Amino acid sequence: MRHNVLVPRTLAVANQKGGVAKTTTVASLGAALVELGQRVLLVDLDPQACLTFSVGVDPEDLDKSIHHVLLGGVKVQDVIVPSEEGPDLVPATIDLSTAEVNLAAESGPEHLVRIALRPVTSQYDWILIDCPPTLGLLTVNGLSAASEVLIPLQCETLAHRGVGQLLDTIHDVQRLTNPGLEVLGVLPTLYDGRTNHARAVLETIADTYALTVLAPAIPKSIRFAEAPAIGQSILSTAPRSTGANAYRALAAALLETR
Ligand code: ADP
Ligand code: MG
Repeated sequence: MRHNVLVPRTLAVANQKGGVAKTTTVASLGAALVELGQRVLLVDLDPQACLTFSVGVDPEDLDKSIHHVLLGGVKVQDVIVPSEEGPDLVPATIDLSTAEVNLAAESGPEHLVRIALRPVTSQYDWILIDCPPTLGLLTVNGLSAASEVLIPLQCETLAHRGVGQLLDTIHDVQRLTNPGLEVLGVLPTLYDGRTNHARAVLETIADTYALTVLAPAIPKSIRFAEAPAIGQSILSTAPRSTGANAYRALAAALLETR
């Protein structure tokens, strides 16, 4: 067993590119881990609050969010949106869009998320952190709070130039704030295995970066587009779909590496 059983596995899902399925991965993997009996907390670190939306919470209805925990002295317990069936959520609100500037003025600004989560870590087996599409202080906070980082990469383009920058940021975090951070690997998303192109992209990624490629690749499917609008993950909206089953298989594989 690699990890102390008392410590939840804290997974930062990060890539500064938007639209690579970070938020979808956090919501779907979280739901899949709950199906496997795991206690899961999702953390929305993106000011766009897409994760908060996609689990059925309207950020407009919230008067407190992670923003107020990081900068307003509010306890994380007081903003968690509990769930009977799915994962619990630390929500984001649009206030978070001004957080990076204010965070920078704090002392030890990279550690604020880790410190904020500390009171509830013993209540969860997994904490999944949805990072914003930047390499700024919020993402650095997510990486600094995590035991592992998962990098979703869409298999639609050969241009993965941003990955080098992301790995530089991860290495900085390992050097400066979180020496224990492990790179779990890249998760191929929006994968259309029928095309040679998608397969070529996968091989390029594996060869270029010497990173573990997690399996299974998440298939491209229109069913994913429907889920967030209903406020549920694809595991509920299309439970028998290949997309739902891919996230279930990923969850099972991650549990085995425990
Ligand atoms: P990010 O958080 O990286 O910006 P999202 O998770 O919000 O990315 O996904 C971007 C868009 O792609 C969303 O509209 C989402 O519904 C869609 N999407 C995510 N995964 C898939 C998939 N496997 N197949 C098809 N569409 C997907
Ligand atoms: Mg997102």
